[in-house]
Amino acid sequence: MTLPPDDHVHTEWSWDAPAGAMDRTCRRALALGLPAVAFTEHADLAPWTLPPGTDVPDSWRPLVTDGVLTPPPLDLEGYRRSLAECRERYPALRILSGVELDGPHRHADRAAALLREGRFARVLAAVHSAALDGGGHTEVSARHADLPSAQVVRTYLADTLELVEQFGDFEVLAHLDYPVRSWPGDAGPYDPGDFEEEYRHVLRALAASGRVLEFNTRVPLHGRVLVWWRQEGGRAVSFGSDAHDPAALAAGFRDAARTAEAAGFRPGPDPYAFWRRA
Ligand SMILES: [Zn+2]
Ligand SMILES: [Zn+2]
Repeated sequence: MTLPPDDHVHTEWSWDAPAGAMDRTCRRALALGLPAVAFTEHADLAPWTLPPGTDVPDSWRPLVTDGVLTPPPLDLEGYRRSLAECRERYPALRILSGVELDGPHRHADRAAALLREGRFARVLAAVHSAALDGGGHTEVSARHADLPSAQVVRTYLADTLELVEQFGDFEVLAHLDYPVRSWPGDAGPYDPGDFEEEYRHVLRALAASGRVLEFNTRVPLHGRVLVWWRQEGGRAVSFGSDAHDPAALAAGFRDAARTAEAAGFRPGPDPYAFWRRA
Protein backbone atom coordinates (compact mmCIF):
# COMPACT_ATOMS: atom_id res chain seq x y z
CA MET A 1 0.00 0.00 0.00
CA THR A 2 1.31 3.47 -0.92
CA LEU A 3 0.96 5.79 2.01
CA PRO A 4 -0.63 9.20 1.44
CA PRO A 5 1.40 12.35 2.15
CA ASP A 6 1.41 13.51 5.78
CA ASP A 7 -0.16 16.94 5.40
CA HIS A 8 -0.20 17.96 9.07
CA VAL A 9 3.15 17.85 10.88
CA HIS A 10 4.72 20.07 13.55
CA THR A 11 8.41 20.63 14.23
CA GLU A 12 10.58 22.71 16.54
CA TRP A 13 9.05 25.78 14.84
CA SER A 14 5.75 25.12 16.64
CA TRP A 15 5.77 26.60 20.13
CA ASP A 16 4.16 23.51 21.72
CA ALA A 17 6.50 20.97 20.09
CA PRO A 18 9.77 20.98 22.07
CA ALA A 19 10.49 17.43 20.81
CA GLY A 20 9.85 18.46 17.20
CA ALA A 21 12.73 18.21 14.72
CA MET A 22 12.31 19.06 11.05
CA ASP A 23 15.50 17.40 9.92
CA ARG A 24 14.83 14.07 11.67
CA THR A 25 11.21 14.18 10.51
CA CYS A 26 12.40 14.34 6.90
CA ARG A 27 14.69 11.38 7.42
CA ARG A 28 11.85 9.42 8.97
CA ALA A 29 9.53 10.34 6.10
CA LEU A 30 12.04 8.86 3.64
CA ALA A 31 12.46 5.74 5.77
CA LEU A 32 8.67 5.26 5.84
CA GLY A 33 8.37 5.81 2.10
CA LEU A 34 6.12 8.85 2.38
CA PRO A 35 5.79 10.76 -0.88
CA ALA A 36 5.55 14.16 0.80
CA VAL A 37 5.31 15.93 4.11
CA ALA A 38 3.82 19.34 4.95
CA PHE A 39 5.22 21.24 7.92
CA THR A 40 2.11 23.02 9.17
CA GLU A 41 3.35 24.95 12.17
CA HIS A 42 1.01 26.53 14.70
CA ALA A 43 -0.23 30.06 14.31
CA ASP A 44 -2.33 30.34 17.46
CA LEU A 45 -3.77 33.81 17.24
CA ALA A 46 -5.39 34.24 20.65
CA PRO A 47 -4.38 33.86 24.32
CA TRP A 48 -5.75 31.04 26.46
CA THR A 49 -6.81 31.32 30.07
CA LEU A 50 -5.32 28.32 31.89
CA PRO A 51 -7.57 26.46 34.34
CA PRO A 52 -6.59 27.10 37.97
CA GLY A 53 -3.93 24.66 39.14
CA THR A 54 -2.60 23.93 35.64
CA ASP A 55 0.84 22.33 35.79
CA VAL A 56 2.68 24.57 33.33
CA PRO A 57 5.59 22.82 31.56
CA ASP A 58 8.94 24.63 31.87
CA SER A 59 9.06 25.46 28.17
CA TRP A 60 5.74 27.32 28.44
CA ARG A 61 6.57 29.40 31.53
CA PRO A 62 7.82 32.45 29.61
CA LEU A 63 4.49 32.51 27.74
CA VAL A 64 2.28 32.63 30.86
CA THR A 65 1.31 35.81 32.71
CA ASP A 66 -1.36 35.83 35.42
CA GLY A 67 -2.72 32.47 34.32
CA VAL A 68 -3.02 33.47 30.66
CA LEU A 69 -0.89 31.76 28.02
CA THR A 70 -0.07 33.86 24.97
CA PRO A 71 1.33 31.68 22.16
CA PRO A 72 4.28 33.31 20.41
CA PRO A 73 4.11 34.30 16.75
CA LEU A 74 5.55 31.88 14.21
CA ASP A 75 9.21 32.70 13.49
CA LEU A 76 8.80 32.76 9.73
CA GLU A 77 12.42 33.56 8.99
CA GLY A 78 13.80 30.65 11.00
CA TYR A 79 11.12 28.31 9.69
CA ARG A 80 11.89 29.19 6.07
CA ARG A 81 15.62 28.73 6.59
CA SER A 82 15.00 25.30 8.07
CA LEU A 83 12.71 24.35 5.15
CA ALA A 84 15.33 25.41 2.63
CA GLU A 85 18.05 23.40 4.38
CA CYS A 86 15.88 20.28 4.49
CA ARG A 87 14.88 20.61 0.83
CA GLU A 88 18.55 20.76 -0.08
CA ARG A 89 19.48 17.80 2.13
CA TYR A 90 16.54 15.58 1.12
CA PRO A 91 15.79 16.18 -2.56
CA ALA A 92 13.93 12.83 -2.84
CA LEU A 93 11.24 14.04 -0.45
CA ARG A 94 8.65 16.62 -1.42
CA ILE A 95 8.57 19.12 1.46
CA LEU A 96 5.65 21.53 1.58
CA SER A 97 5.41 24.69 3.61
CA GLY A 98 2.31 25.09 5.69
CA VAL A 99 0.54 26.59 8.66
CA GLU A 100 -2.23 25.60 11.08
CA LEU A 101 -4.37 28.63 11.85
CA ASP A 102 -6.25 28.54 15.13
CA GLY A 103 -9.64 30.26 15.03
CA PRO A 104 -8.75 32.54 12.10
CA HIS A 105 -12.39 33.69 11.81
CA ARG A 106 -11.95 35.54 15.10
CA HIS A 107 -8.72 37.21 13.96
CA ALA A 108 -9.17 37.58 10.24
CA ASP A 109 -6.83 40.56 9.82
CA ARG A 110 -3.91 38.87 11.56
CA ALA A 111 -4.54 35.62 9.73
CA ALA A 112 -4.62 37.44 6.39
CA ALA A 113 -1.36 39.26 7.15
CA LEU A 114 0.39 36.01 8.08
CA LEU A 115 -0.88 34.25 4.94
CA ARG A 116 0.29 37.13 2.75
CA GLU A 117 3.74 37.01 4.29
CA GLY A 118 4.02 33.23 4.57
CA ARG A 119 2.73 32.17 1.12
CA PHE A 120 2.20 28.67 2.48
CA ALA A 121 1.49 25.70 0.25
CA ARG A 122 -0.84 24.03 2.81
CA VAL A 123 -3.15 26.15 4.91
CA LEU A 124 -5.01 24.25 7.62
CA ALA A 125 -7.67 25.91 9.74
CA ALA A 126 -8.89 24.58 13.06
CA VAL A 127 -10.49 25.49 16.33
CA HIS A 128 -8.46 24.72 19.47
CA SER A 129 -10.15 27.03 21.95
CA ALA A 130 -13.55 27.41 23.56
CA ALA A 131 -15.19 30.51 25.02
CA LEU A 132 -15.30 30.86 28.81
CA ASP A 133 -18.48 32.06 30.49
CA GLY A 134 -16.71 35.01 32.08
CA GLY A 135 -15.02 36.10 28.82
CA GLY A 136 -11.85 34.98 27.09
CA HIS A 137 -11.04 31.53 25.77
CA THR A 138 -9.37 28.38 27.01
CA GLU A 139 -8.06 25.23 25.35
CA VAL A 140 -10.97 22.95 24.42
CA SER A 141 -9.83 20.01 26.59
CA ALA A 142 -10.19 22.16 29.71
CA ARG A 143 -13.95 22.55 29.10
CA HIS A 144 -14.72 18.90 29.84
CA ALA A 145 -14.13 19.64 33.53
CA ASP A 146 -16.87 22.30 33.64
CA LEU A 147 -19.44 21.18 31.09
CA PRO A 148 -21.15 17.96 29.99
CA SER A 149 -18.86 16.48 27.34
CA ALA A 150 -21.69 16.32 24.79
CA GLN A 151 -22.03 20.08 25.17
CA VAL A 152 -18.27 20.54 24.65
CA VAL A 153 -18.54 18.67 21.34
CA ARG A 154 -21.67 20.56 20.20
CA THR A 155 -20.14 23.93 21.05
CA TYR A 156 -16.96 22.93 19.22
CA LEU A 157 -18.87 21.95 16.10
CA ALA A 158 -20.85 25.22 16.22
CA ASP A 159 -17.55 27.17 16.50
CA THR A 160 -16.12 25.21 13.59
CA LEU A 161 -19.22 25.92 11.50
CA GLU A 162 -18.64 29.64 12.15
CA LEU A 163 -15.05 29.26 11.03
CA VAL A 164 -16.08 27.57 7.77
CA GLU A 165 -18.81 30.13 7.08
CA GLN A 166 -16.88 33.25 8.05
CA PHE A 167 -13.29 32.64 6.96
CA GLY A 168 -12.38 31.92 3.36
CA ASP A 169 -8.63 31.71 3.24
CA PHE A 170 -7.83 28.07 3.94
CA GLU A 171 -7.75 24.76 2.12
CA VAL A 172 -8.08 21.99 4.72
CA LEU A 173 -10.23 21.78 7.85
CA ALA A 174 -8.13 20.07 10.52
CA HIS A 175 -9.33 17.67 13.23
CA LEU A 176 -13.09 18.25 13.15
CA ASP A 177 -13.37 15.85 16.11
CA TYR A 178 -10.75 17.59 18.29
CA PRO A 179 -12.73 17.44 21.62
CA VAL A 180 -12.83 13.64 21.29
CA ARG A 181 -9.10 13.56 22.12
CA SER A 182 -9.92 14.68 25.65
CA TRP A 183 -13.28 12.85 25.99
CA PRO A 184 -13.34 11.80 29.67
CA GLY A 185 -13.58 8.12 30.56
CA ASP A 186 -16.47 8.81 32.96
CA ALA A 187 -18.58 10.46 30.24
CA GLY A 188 -19.50 7.06 28.77
CA PRO A 189 -18.48 5.93 25.29
CA TYR A 190 -18.20 8.59 22.60
CA ASP A 191 -20.59 7.89 19.72
CA PRO A 192 -20.40 10.22 16.69
CA GLY A 193 -24.02 9.28 15.96
CA ASP A 194 -25.06 11.42 18.94
CA PHE A 195 -23.82 14.45 16.99
CA GLU A 196 -24.69 13.41 13.46
CA GLU A 197 -26.79 16.47 12.68
CA GLU A 198 -24.09 18.87 13.93
CA TYR A 199 -21.33 17.02 12.06
CA ARG A 200 -23.36 16.98 8.86
CA HIS A 201 -24.04 20.70 9.14
CA VAL A 202 -20.30 21.51 9.22
CA LEU A 203 -19.53 18.96 6.50
CA ARG A 204 -22.22 20.39 4.21
CA ALA A 205 -20.84 23.91 4.58
CA LEU A 206 -17.28 22.67 4.03
CA ALA A 207 -18.26 20.70 0.93
CA ALA A 208 -20.22 23.64 -0.48
CA SER A 209 -17.09 25.78 -0.18
CA GLY A 210 -15.03 23.19 -2.09
CA ARG A 211 -12.61 22.54 0.74
CA VAL A 212 -10.89 19.42 2.03
CA LEU A 213 -11.62 17.42 5.19
CA GLU A 214 -8.64 16.17 7.18
CA PHE A 215 -8.39 12.62 8.46
CA ASN A 216 -6.40 13.37 11.60
CA THR A 217 -4.95 10.18 13.07
CA ARG A 218 -4.07 11.38 16.60
CA VAL A 219 -7.46 9.96 17.57
CA PRO A 220 -8.48 8.45 14.24
CA LEU A 221 -11.48 10.13 12.67
CA HIS A 222 -14.50 7.83 12.91
CA GLY A 223 -15.34 6.15 9.59
CA ARG A 224 -18.98 7.25 9.86
CA VAL A 225 -17.92 10.90 9.77
CA LEU A 226 -16.11 10.20 6.49
CA VAL A 227 -19.21 8.50 5.09
CA TRP A 228 -21.25 11.61 6.04
CA TRP A 229 -18.58 13.77 4.40
CA ARG A 230 -19.06 11.89 1.12
CA GLN A 231 -22.86 11.99 1.40
CA GLU A 232 -22.82 15.74 2.04
CA GLY A 233 -20.85 16.31 -1.15
CA GLY A 234 -17.27 16.19 0.18
CA ARG A 235 -14.79 15.48 -2.60
CA ALA A 236 -11.36 15.26 -1.02
CA VAL A 237 -9.60 13.94 2.07
CA SER A 238 -6.22 14.94 3.46
CA PHE A 239 -4.28 12.76 5.92
CA GLY A 240 -2.54 14.28 8.93
CA SER A 241 -0.73 12.68 11.85
CA ASP A 242 -0.49 16.01 13.71
CA ALA A 243 2.91 14.70 14.85
CA HIS A 244 4.73 16.87 17.38
CA ASP A 245 7.85 14.69 17.24
CA PRO A 246 9.42 12.63 14.43
CA ALA A 247 8.37 9.28 15.92
CA ALA A 248 4.69 10.14 15.44
CA LEU A 249 4.99 10.91 11.74
CA ALA A 250 2.29 9.16 9.66
CA ALA A 251 1.16 7.22 12.75
CA GLY A 252 -1.97 5.19 12.01
CA PHE A 253 -1.88 5.96 8.28
CA ARG A 254 -2.40 2.38 7.10
CA ASP A 255 -5.61 2.01 9.11
CA ALA A 256 -6.70 5.52 8.10
CA ALA A 257 -6.20 4.73 4.42
CA ARG A 258 -8.31 1.58 4.79
CA THR A 259 -11.07 3.54 6.55
CA ALA A 260 -11.01 6.21 3.84
CA GLU A 261 -11.22 3.55 1.12
CA ALA A 262 -14.20 1.95 2.85
CA ALA A 263 -15.89 5.36 2.90
CA GLY A 264 -15.39 5.73 -0.86
CA PHE A 265 -12.19 7.76 -1.22
CA ARG A 266 -9.20 6.75 -3.38
CA PRO A 267 -5.72 7.96 -4.16
CA GLY A 268 -5.41 9.53 -7.61
CA PRO A 269 -2.57 9.11 -10.10
CA ASP A 270 -0.63 11.92 -8.42
CA PRO A 271 0.90 10.48 -5.20
CA TYR A 272 1.23 13.98 -3.74
CA ALA A 273 -2.44 14.87 -4.11
CA PHE A 274 -5.37 14.60 -1.71
CA TRP A 275 -7.46 11.47 -1.97
CA ARG A 276 -10.63 11.97 -3.99
CA ARG A 277 -14.10 10.46 -3.89
CA ALA A 278 -14.29 7.41 -6.09
ZN1 LIG B 1 -4.55 21.45 15.85
ZN1 LIG C 1 -1.63 20.43 14.58
